[in-house]
Amino acid sequence: MSSVPRTLDDGVSRCGPGGRLWHAASVTPTLARRRFFALAPLALVAACSPRPPADPAPGAPAAPATPAPTPPVTTVPVAADLAAPGRTPVAWGTHLPGIRDVVDGGVALTFDACGGPSGSGVDHALLDLLRAEAIPATLFLNERWVRAHEQLTAELAADPLFQIENHGSRHLPLSVDGRAAYGIAGTTSYADARAEIESNQRTLTDVAGRTPRWFRAGTAHYDDVAVDLLTDLGLGVAGFAVNGDAGATANPAAVEHALAGARDGAIVLAHMNQPHGGTASGLARALPALRAAGTTFRLLGEP
Ligand SMILES: [Zn+2]
Repeated sequence: MSSVPRTLDDGVSRCGPGGRLWHAASVTPTLARRRFFALAPLALVAACSPRPPADPAPGAPAAPATPAPTPPVTTVPVAADLAAPGRTPVAWGTHLPGIRDVVDGGVALTFDACGGPSGSGVDHALLDLLRAEAIPATLFLNERWVRAHEQLTAELAADPLFQIENHGSRHLPLSVDGRAAYGIAGTTSYADARAEIESNQRTLTDVAGRTPRWFRAGTAHYDDVAVDLLTDLGLGVAGFAVNGDAGATANPAAVEHALAGARDGAIVLAHMNQPHGGTASGLARALPALRAAGTTFRLLGEP
């Protein structure tokens, strides 16, 4: 399944820090999506930007000193030698054909760890909450975050509650012509897009002991050629239906409100790299109502 093709471009200028999160129950699906898209631009980059509103926590605590399990030896599959298609992109955004925003049932919580100088923290309260509540979650780890937390990465990968996937190597929008999102220049060519994908594929295979099956670009922006590249590499392209924490800038009430709007099948995007954001407490606040409504949580599984 994939979403209706759209771009976010029309939402950028209307989005601001004071924007309200949409509430799915109060509007029609189409309107809900529009309101959501209007919010989304602020949301996907703040957790990783140089000066995010939330505490970037560059000195976040290191991984616990638990010995990491030895990952099984695996081999990075060699993709078919893909020739650059010579196509000019015709679409750009976070919701294009081929990007998965939904799953077949349940709610798939996904948490990005964006890495870099301001994005390499660890939200241990969130991880503790997920474990205490036995909530499965898919963790999209950027290569820079993985290098800063190799032991924790291996530990998370060994926990069946979590699924570890690829959030890029340099955390760039995935483009074949350098198109930017939020002022962040995207990858500059087909080969550069491949490098953004495959460097972290190799790192995660080494560190986590499993080759990722899904990719979510930094900023969650893609052009249509890049989406096809990911598909040709055999990777699922992860989008989102619910913007859970506005780039880890949302306060707990806003996170709770966003999660309350997650319908069955929604992929929820939030963050695990900003320990002083409202993500963990917002999830904790949302859980009683979600449980009462019969919501079940699931991993993304196979693409
Ligand atoms: Zn990110």
